[in-house]
Amino acid sequence: MKVLKFGGTSVGTVESLSNVKKIVEALPDGCVVVVSALGGITDRLIATARLAAAGDESYRAETEAIAHRHFDVIAGVVAEIRRKEVIERVGDLLQELRRIYDGVFLLREISARTLDVIVSFGERMSSAIVTAMIPGASLHDSMSFIKTEKWFDRNIADSSLTSALIRKDFSSMPGRVAIAPGFISTDRDSGEITNLGRGGSDFTAALISAALDAELLEIWTDVDGFMTADPRIIPDARIIPEMSFVESMELCSFGAKVIYPPTIYPVFHKNIPIKILNTFNAEAPGTLITDISEPDSECPVRGVSAIKEITLLSLKGDLTGNVPQINSRSFNALARKGVNVLLVSQPDSDNAFSFAVAGNDARKALEALEDEFAPELTSGALERIDSIDSLSTIAVVGEHLKAATRVGPRILNTLMRDGIDVKAFSTGVSETTATFVVEADMTSKALILIHNLFFPSPLPK
Ligand code: ASP
Ligand code: MG
Repeated sequence: MKVLKFGGTSVGTVESLSNVKKIVEALPDGCVVVVSALGGITDRLIATARLAAAGDESYRAETEAIAHRHFDVIAGVVAEIRRKEVIERVGDLLQELRRIYDGVFLLREISARTLDVIVSFGERMSSAIVTAMIPGASLHDSMSFIKTEKWFDRNIADSSLTSALIRKDFSSMPGRVAIAPGFISTDRDSGEITNLGRGGSDFTAALISAALDAELLEIWTDVDGFMTADPRIIPDARIIPEMSFVESMELCSFGAKVIYPPTIYPVFHKNIPIKILNTFNAEAPGTLITDISEPDSECPVRGVSAIKEITLLSLKGDLTGNVPQINSRSFNALARKGVNVLLVSQPDSDNAFSFAVAGNDARKALEALEDEFAPELTSGALERIDSIDSLSTIAVVGEHLKAATRVGPRILNTLMRDGIDVKAFSTGVSETTATFVVEADMTSKALILIHNLFFPSPLPK
């Protein structure tokens, strides 16, 4: 059995939905189709909520525009005999949404909880439409089987409960095709509507794939596959025909927007391959992600990616005698605050320990480290903790990086020769990824230089 996930652009218009219909109808029986909200709708639901909360009456016109977009799509893709029923279903959902927006407008207030309810309507409506569009399809309610629990200020999936509930829900598939909304979930304790985070439909599809031991997870999107770099920055970026789970995980964790990073764990664990395919060019071979990874000819690098808005925190002082202890204390202190560490750099010539974190975690992270190392800061054993913001991390990923010689120094030389100041450098634990911290406004230049080093082509002028 296969699981197919169609993203927002794939279900965004009458034309793209017609492609989805063709792709699904060509499949043998018994597949699960996970859908995102119609392209752009999640952002619009949030923007409309903010208008209402700000007391701006235009939220009403915006809500009607959202309604029209859905009714237009229904008119374009759903066969006439099923149209009345789906118009009613989507109409009911829109009615509920209007009431919630009115409430937000009256109270001039929007809580995170209410916003989670509001964004859920996107996938609830799109899944109803796709179900009506595909003959023999049945709708499965993700909110009843994708369960989350609170973790700091986030909701994270309770994978074991979710897995058991999925198996139960799909034990009898009434139709040949099961449709499930992506992204949305409910809290395992309170039952409140939650979600898996922006881009989370991929994760829904992965949880279903893993629970049902699918043979393949297909992620249908609007590009021909996973590319060696972001093509908006590097027009010469190429499609990667095959890559490993670890490579895809590293590239996505370091900024490649192809798959929502948590998606890869559940399928990796079950060794279920992932295929990235293009709804608008279904014949393209796409990218196959599996547990094996043959080196791509002579090139040890599979791809490069970047995250902007990074802050680098550096512990400065004579610390070289205590490397493991300082690392583990820093990690624990940051983990207790829910801060994700993107890079740890080896102590350099200045004896500095550096940790890269997302810019919006920077303040929390600095406080956590200052608390943890208060005794050393007081005694002078630790000189100070520096925080530098407006940085980027650039990740260079490849399973064969480890075996290749001098990749790190080659990149460092290339960057330095072109005047790019590398603030920190790490090869990571897995040795699959080399990361470089540079100033944010040097990101594109650094990406172009590195990409050109491994995938040579004329430099864009
Ligand atoms: N609709 C959600 C979003 O826009 C989830 C998804 O598309 O994966 O983030
Ligand atoms: Mg996505």
